[in-house]
Order: sequence, then C-alpha cells, then structure tokens
Amino acid sequence: MKHISIVVPCYNEEEALPLYYEAMLPVLETLRAQGADVDFVFVDDGSGDGTLRVLRDLHEKDGRCGYVSFSRNFGKEAAMYAGLQHAKGDYVAVMDADLQDPPDMLPDMLRILEESPADDPVDCVGTRRTDRKGEPPIRSFFARCFYRLINRISKTEIVDGARDYRLMTRRMVDAILSLSEYNRFSKGIFSWVGFKTRWLEYVNRERVAGETKWSFRKLFLYSIDGITAFSTAPLAIASFSGMAICAVSFIALLFVFIRALVFGDPVAGWPSMICIILFLGGVQLLGIGILGQYLAKTYLEVKNRPQYVLQEKNLKE
Ligand code: UDP
Ligand code: MG
Repeated sequence: MKHISIVVPCYNEEEALPLYYEAMLPVLETLRAQGADVDFVFVDDGSGDGTLRVLRDLHEKDGRCGYVSFSRNFGKEAAMYAGLQHAKGDYVAVMDADLQDPPDMLPDMLRILEESPADDPVDCVGTRRTDRKGEPPIRSFFARCFYRLINRISKTEIVDGARDYRLMTRRMVDAILSLSEYNRFSKGIFSWVGFKTRWLEYVNRERVAGETKWSFRKLFLYSIDGITAFSTAPLAIASFSGMAICAVSFIALLFVFIRALVFGDPVAGWPSMICIILFLGGVQLLGIGILGQYLAKTYLEVKNRPQYVLQEKNLKE
C-alpha cells in the first residue's frame, strides 16, 4: 500500500474545514481503491478563529487527520514548509482548505505518477487555472504583468496560473525541503528543483466559505519577494542605468565646457540644472532602494531564524 500525505495550510478556515473534510471523504475511498492510504497534515497558521478547535475535533474523530499549530501567523509559505516537513508519505499533496483546489483531481494525479514510465518518470503533477474568473480585472492585469516580467528576468520558469495544488513524489519533496531559505517563494522553488512536472488544467472556482487572505497590497509585496528571490536582474538594471547616465553626462559636460570656451559663460540654464540634479538624485535613490531590497533579504537570511514556531502538534504515528 502506497501512502499519500496531504498538506493543508489553514488560516482562519473554521467554516471551510468541515466542508473540506466532507468533500475529501469520497475521494479518500477512490484513492484507497487505487491502492493508496491517506493521512492529513493540517497546518494551523496561527488562526484567530476556531480553526485549531476544528482540527482537534477532526483528529479526535478521524485518526488520519493530523495537525500542527503555529504560535502565530507565519504566512502560507511557512505553513507549506512546515506541512512538507511533517509529511511522511511516499507521495505528498499540497492543497488549500477552501475547496478552490478540486479534490476529485487527486485520483488522476496519482494515476499519472504511478503510470509514468520508469525511464522518464514524472515526479510532480501540478494544476493550472485556465482563467481568472471571479477576480477583479485590475488584479488579473497585474498578475499577468508579473508573470511576463519575472519570466523575462529569471532563469527559473514561473508558470502563469499555476496553483500550489500538486502531488509530488518523496524525492521531489526532499529536494524542496533541502532549500531551507527564509524568504520562500514556492512557485519558484517547485520549478527550481527540477524533475518532470505534468500540468492538469481546470476552471477557476470560488472558495466555499470565508474569504481570501490576499489583499492587493500583500500580493504586490509577494511579487517583489518573488522577483528578488529568483532574479538579480534589478541590480544589473541599476548599474547599467548608472553607466548609461555617466556616459550621457560626460558628453553633456564636454558640450557645456566647449560652449563656455566659445561663447563665454552667461549665467543661464538654472531650470535645466535643477531638472538634471533632481533626475540624478532620483536615479541614485532608486539604485540604493534596489540594493536595499536585496540587502534586507540577505539580512533576514543571515539571521537564520526558523520559518515558524510550533505550539501544538498531533500527527498520525
Ligand atoms: N493561508 C495560510 N496562511 C496565510 C494565508 C493563507 O495558511 O497567512 C492558507 C489559507 O487558509 C488557504 C490557502 O492558504 O488554505 C490559500 O489562501 P486563500 O484562499 O486566502 O488564497 P487565494 O485562494 O485567494 O489565493
Ligand atoms: Mg483560496
């Protein structure tokens, strides 16, 4: 019998969790018929509602439902990392608690992994949304811009519309865990570790209960995390624009110098000088800002703090 661990990050999901569990029951039967045993690693990401209580009840009722609980909210990235660390299965799935990730895709995912040829194995079956229905158009627009930008400046491919919902083999999970960086950007990490990934597509669904934890501001900051974690192109842009401006100012300097020699030096051009000073000041600040972004990430990395702190743990042995 193969073993599947399902990692479910949960932040304020007390309403969605019981619905999620009910929806998973028939799928667990199907998986069992396919020869796979399932256990859950729910990760309570410092929820402020009754999520932990619901998880304790689920554990009481069904021994397959294990959970770990954080001492505060550490974010979905930390929750996934903790879940993967505590997952013991031969296969590991990552899934949201709000049923936006259709449970009935799991049997297909398992089939693809099991039936993949030994000489060209598939180690991961991921999922992509084919549309962004139900999302504000402005958000979709920025999301699309982000994917275009990051794929242009990063060597790691970040697939547009790819969800975190996926089923992976043990060796892929071990590879992911071996990247213990503090600033985690999973969409990049999944792809960075390599291995062959197959994509299944599905139409976007609305969450069953509760509401999304991602505000526009959070998504924007997350996209900057993604860029700084998987590309150093902004640093190069800063130094290239520095060089370009140096070259231009050198030519301008020659021009001004020769003009002063030929026509004398009437005091004029104050507005243009102010413009140039302001422009250069802005460019310098931008360059320092970009440096600061990377320095801040390095600072957090060097501190080597744990990704999360546990306050309670109850897993299936
Ligand atoms: N989540 C989490 N920690 C957070 C935010 C979200 O563990 O700080 C979980 C959340 O409970 C859900 C999943 O991550 O299971 C996806 O969150 P959400 O549905 O809010 O994101 P969306 O589907 O809107 O992208
Ligand atoms: Mg969701």
